[in-house]
Amino acid sequence: MQQQQLAPGVILGPDGKPCKPCMAFRSFAGVKKKAAGASAAQQPHAGSSSAGGGTSTASSPSGSAALSSGAGAAAAAAAASLAEPVLPADCPPDVERLGRHTWTFLHTTASYFPPSPSPHQKTAMLSLLRALPTLYPCGSCASHLGSYLEAHPPEPEVESGREALEKWLCGVHNEVNERLGKDRFDCGDVPQRWRDGWADGRCDP
Ligand SMILES: Cc1cc2nc3c(=O)[nH]c(=O)nc-3n(C[C@H](O)[C@H](O)[C@H](O)COP(=O)(O)OP(=O)(O)OC[C@H]3O[C@@H](n4cnc5c(N)ncnc54)[C@H](O)[C@@H]3O)c2cc1C
Repeated sequence: MQQQQLAPGVILGPDGKPCKPCMAFRSFAGVKKKAAGASAAQQPHAGSSSAGGGTSTASSPSGSAALSSGAGAAAAAAAASLAEPVLPADCPPDVERLGRHTWTFLHTTASYFPPSPSPHQKTAMLSLLRALPTLYPCGSCASHLGSYLEAHPPEPEVESGREALEKWLCGVHNEVNERLGKDRFDCGDVPQRWRDGWADGRCDP
């Protein structure tokens, strides 16, 4: 029964429920919104529905006062229906929010890793990195990461300390960027982005 209510493209988790951290809210919420708009359009008198949006003016009575006074509202409704859905701040994370926050944690942690780490710090860092392919809540992300770690094990960089680790993690992130069709990040900018702040001083307290 729940299966029938799922929007196309929704990824199910191991528990059979939609896997929120595996999907981008803007894509699955957009599909849901379109589906809601389509079913509303099939109802009689659907023209005033807020989900209907862009095409409702075509069926409005032309030349009437209602058209001019309703034009602003119709334009606003159309704009709202075109805007990407935004995940409310207090909802469970989607794949993008989880990713952004995880990268923030990982890059910041790498940028504050000591230049000459103690044996205990090295062990802790390796445990953290090795745990991700098992624990990261987006299964396909975790599986790609696991393959990357096998091909590019972090041990030598963790052994070397901060600078090497920052570069290695930048490489991990760039692999994901490329896979998602995003620009590569210049790894020379990592210290400014994640620890020192940019040279123009805009990040300084
Ligand atoms: C381990 C991991 C695996 C992931 N795998 C997937 C996946 O398979 N599929 C998927 O859809 N999403 C995945 N994500 C999420 C994805 O990487 C993004 O976090 C998400 O798409 C949001 O992207 P964004 O454009 O906001 O910026 P993000 O990619 O989250 O980056 C945040 C900020 O980091 C900085 N940055 C960007 N690249 C680098 C870099 N190379 N080095 C240092 N800093 C950088 C930039 O300032 C950027 O604004 C993964 C996330 C993580 C942590």
